[in-house]
Amino acid sequence: MKKTLLITGASRGIGAATALHAGKRGYNVCVNYLSNSEAASKVVSQIKTDGGHAIAYQADVSKEPEVLNLFQKIDQDFGAIHALVNNAGILETQSRVDQLELERLHRVLNANVVSSFLCAREAIRRMSTRHGGDGGAIVNVSSIASRTGSPNEYVDYAMSKGAIDTFTIGLAKELAGEGIRVNGVRPGFIYTDIHAAGGEPNRVDRIKATLPMQRGGQPEEVANAILWLLSDDASFSTGSFIDVTGGR
Ligand code: NAP
Repeated sequence: MKKTLLITGASRGIGAATALHAGKRGYNVCVNYLSNSEAASKVVSQIKTDGGHAIAYQADVSKEPEVLNLFQKIDQDFGAIHALVNNAGILETQSRVDQLELERLHRVLNANVVSSFLCAREAIRRMSTRHGGDGGAIVNVSSIASRTGSPNEYVDYAMSKGAIDTFTIGLAKELAGEGIRVNGVRPGFIYTDIHAAGGEPNRVDRIKATLPMQRGGQPEEVANAILWLLSDDASFSTGSFIDVTGGR
């Protein structure tokens, strides 16, 4: 039986790379996106060209009604869900904490933390053996920022990723007896659009010489770690993290 996988924020960057990889692995891929329908369509088309099955779903996963609607549509389209990648995330312009407005903190926490909580909850309600499901796997995309704190750039973002790490640990223990494994991936400096949102599109190239491997990472390298944690090869791993950082 084909497994159905929801990846939030799968129209671009790490989520898109994970979706393409998952399609080749035989998952039915639910490609969630916020607003870039063209990019999401391209991901779906490429998965189909590669012989896989995928559907694009627009939803702002930081909003509860939209998450409920998203999971209902997946229920209708596939009947069951077996895996979730909480990948959608944002950062905003590089700033110090003393320059930040409360509204920005709300936006970052909603997009990065509330979204993961809501999607995990809906997935658990379907996958947990406690609720009659067959079990499953969840991977939360955190960041190396949860360890470094991102001073002078995005302490708010780093804080949100610290919450994701704690969420991963607690949820893994809560669900370990219910057939669901929960793990995290902490990317380092990866070539995606997210750095432009922070006001520095070439951020990875500026920093790469300071990294032990002296290069930035590719989204596919993060996707490989995510797909391994989702797979049965990781059957005894829960509450664990893979840092994909070139040694940082
Ligand atoms: P990205 O290239 O900026 O792509 C972000 C994706 O998230 C897009 O598909 C976007 O959809 C979607 N998205 C944003 N807010 C959403 C919402 N509220 N609801 C649904 N979808 C939403 O980002 P990325 O670099 O691939 O980052 C992916 C994850 O990796 C994030 O959690 C990020 O924090 C983490 N990460 C990235 C790096 C890095 O260096 N790139 C490092 C550490 C951690 P649209 O296309 O529709 O806008």
